[in-house]
Amino acid sequence: MLYQGVLRKMQTEMGSPIQYFLVFENDFLNMNQLLNKELTIDFIKFQCLNCGRERPIYRQGFCKSCFYESASAGDWIMKPELSTAHLGKEDRDLEYEKKVQLQPHIVYLANSSNVKVGVTRKTQVPTRWIDQGAHEAIEIVEVPNRYLAGITEVALKAHVSDKTSWQKMLTNRIEDVDLKAWRDKLQSSIPEGASEYFLGENSETHMDFPVLQFPEKVKSLNLDKTPSYTGVLKGIKGQYLIFEDSTVFNIRGNEGYFVGIGIS
Ligand SMILES: [Zn+2]
Repeated sequence: MLYQGVLRKMQTEMGSPIQYFLVFENDFLNMNQLLNKELTIDFIKFQCLNCGRERPIYRQGFCKSCFYESASAGDWIMKPELSTAHLGKEDRDLEYEKKVQLQPHIVYLANSSNVKVGVTRKTQVPTRWIDQGAHEAIEIVEVPNRYLAGITEVALKAHVSDKTSWQKMLTNRIEDVDLKAWRDKLQSSIPEGASEYFLGENSETHMDFPVLQFPEKVKSLNLDKTPSYTGVLKGIKGQYLIFEDSTVFNIRGNEGYFVGIGIS
């Protein structure tokens, strides 16, 4: 069977285990059902997620001009502390920025390979944690806009990492950490303006990923160098497909790549 479409990050559904869906224009695949099956991934062409044109993908699924012009790729996406919609100040498109930035945001601690701090819109919990491959996570504050979440993250970064190791996450060299204790320890470092939004009562959320076999060492599939790959799917964690031969494929990292997926 052959499926075709442009890659976008997999959609997920919380559960035991988490359910993953690869959604194309005309098809969708429940990836959990493909475990232990042999998949072939063929690169066909580029398709920018913003303009739809066949142009090399630059970042985040966008061609270079869309990445630098589209409202949905402004600097405040990766650096929430640069958000300015709460001041009525435009970056690229104030209406869009108001819609995204002026809504409840969560600052959280997640553990995928180590404890890290992060920011997400409230509607993206627990999706964001699943996408990161975190096996556990907890909220620290819920604030009314992205800016407050951003300055909280910046302040907490002085005490806890904001980076993770995807290799550790995928090889499952992980440990269980008491995130409540971390949250309580960090409370005094939440900046003014956000400290009143501290969430002291939540408990940890645990994520159960569909993985039959973790790799010892990972090699990342790069479609630019290897436009056709075949392997047996052994697991899904974060936005990665994990294959029997220790190859891993980052779906999110390949957004905007139009591929064929064969299943045998
Ligand atoms: Zn484009």
